[in-house]
Parts: sequence; C-alpha cells; structure tokens
Amino acid sequence: LMQLSVPLNFIGFIYREIRQGLTDIEQMFDLLDVKAEVVDKPDAVALGVGAGKVEFRDVRFAYEPNRQILKGISFEVPAGRTVAIVGPSGAGKSTISRLLFRFYDVQSGAILIDGQDVRDVTQQSLRAAIGMVPQDTVLFNDTIAYNIRYGRIDASDEEVRRAAELAQIGSFIESLPEGYDTMVGERGLKLSGGEKQRVAIARTILKAPPILILDEATSALDSHTEQEIQSALDLVSRDRTTIVIAHRLSTVISADEIIVLKEGRIEERGTHAALLRMGGLYASMWDRQREATEAEERLRIARETD
Ligand code: ADP
Ligand code: MG
Repeated sequence: LMQLSVPLNFIGFIYREIRQGLTDIEQMFDLLDVKAEVVDKPDAVALGVGAGKVEFRDVRFAYEPNRQILKGISFEVPAGRTVAIVGPSGAGKSTISRLLFRFYDVQSGAILIDGQDVRDVTQQSLRAAIGMVPQDTVLFNDTIAYNIRYGRIDASDEEVRRAAELAQIGSFIESLPEGYDTMVGERGLKLSGGEKQRVAIARTILKAPPILILDEATSALDSHTEQEIQSALDLVSRDRTTIVIAHRLSTVISADEIIVLKEGRIEERGTHAALLRMGGLYASMWDRQREATEAEERLRIARETD
C-alpha cells in the first residue's frame, strides 16, 4: 500500500499542477484518466443552452479553509455580450473561470447558465458549451491538424484550414515543410507561446461554443503578435457570450462591462469610459500601463535611430 500511495500522490500532484496552469480541461481529462473532485449529481441533466447567459450570484470560494479567495462575487454576462475581468495578479480572476468550468464547486452562492445551476447539469454538457482559450495551451504530441481538429473531431480538412486562417496561423502552418502534417508538442516542433495560443483559438473557432472564456496572457508577446492574436480573438468572441480575463487593458476597451477585481472583491465596475472618469483603481492601472507602453515605444525609437 505504501508503494502504491506514492505514484497516486504524484498523479494527484500533476493533476493539480495542470489544473493550476489552467490547461485545457478537455485535454486534461484525456491525458490523465483521473477522477475529478467534482462529480455529477445522480440526477444530473444535460445543460440546455439557450442564448447563453452567464450569471454569478454572490459567489464565495476558498481553495483552503481560512483563506477566502472570492468574497461575494456577483455579475451577469448577457447572452452574446462581453464582460472583462481585470485586476492585480492573485485577485481571483482565473479562479472565476475555473468555477464556471466547474473544476471546483462554490462554497456559497451559485453560478448559472441560462438559469441552470452548473451543479445540476452534467459536466460533459457543461464543458461542451464552453470554449476556453487558456493562458498556456498544452499541445498533443500529434500533427498540427489533429491539434486543431480536436475542437470538432468531424471537421473536414477544409474547415480545419479555414479555422487556422481565421486564427492567423494558416500561413505559418503552410510555410512548414510538412504543413498541417507537422508533428508538434513535446516530441515534435516546439511552437512559441503565441503560436500555441493561435492553435487554441483555431480549435475554439471549430468548436464554436456558445460561451467563451479567454484567459489572455499576451503581455509576453510583442505588440505585432498581440495585435494579430487580438483580431483572432475578436473574431471568435463576436456574438458569443464572452468572459475575457485581460492583462493588457487595451484589449478590454470595448467590453460591455469591465469588472475590476481586487483581493476577491469587485472593487469597481463599469464601462471603460465610466471607470476612467471614476479615477480609481482602473484609472490608475490604465495610467501605469500607458506609461509603460510609452516607455516601450521610446525605447523602440531609440533603438531604431541607433
Ligand atoms: P489571478 O488569476 O487573478 O492572478 P487566481 O484566481 O489564479 O488569481 O488566484 C487567486 C488566489 O488563489 C491566489 O492567491 C492564488 O495563490 C490562490 N490559489 C490559486 N489556486 C490555488 C490552489 N489550488 N490552492 C490554494 N490557493 C490557490
Ligand atoms: Mg490568472
């Protein structure tokens, strides 16, 4: 028994690590055949997705006792609209996406999709309705075509190609000697963070889910790549209920509502213009980021005139 407990703990460790990294849930369950903490109710029914309205009602959550992470979060994403969540690192932004996906259950309050509590529906149907473009996509050790087609297994070659083009990665793939048959992943061609993210976007375009979560991590990308990814993301989120967790505030300007999260509480909320007028946390984050961008720009010009 002792011998057995070590690898089991280890699997649990990997499982938690992967979950922490907000790796694609679908991949996680495929790659590791381990039981999730959350189980379906015996009478769980399939989620009936209508227009795709998402609602958080006074959600409280803690990973560990005595350390509350979300302290009463309420917001609504009307069907087809976009809500952005911004705030300092560690505020609980990614936790919100993990709860919507039901990696964990809330301690109190509720999360509803078109009026149905996520705890009352099958996890399979819940996850089929939600597309996630995570911060860090892990690719399968398979062809790039397979990795894209994973979004919808019965997609034709033509559909895979179109999705790749929409995600701004089509010409990159075609420039590879083996094109769509190129092996990627740990044992194949290593793709950059931005390329992997675009593969995830292509996959999501194929999946065409009614609800989208974009956990952007574009701060590490150069601004050209970021713009390309941004236009791909704009395309997938059009007419879909979207929650976008944004690190760069430039990506949230057009959101219907921006929620500023701080230490598990909603500190401010409103449109970009209203939040700027308020002159609070969002406005100061915006100022700081603009200064950083301007400094970056000055540096670039200085380099060019060298
Ligand atoms: P954000 O995405 O805003 O940076 P997260 O939602 O990832 O923040 O995390 C919020 C807080 O929860 C952080 O303090 C983080 O350390 C903590 N946290 C995240 N996952 C776990 C976990 N599995 N166990 C304990 N604490 C966690
Ligand atoms: Mg996060």
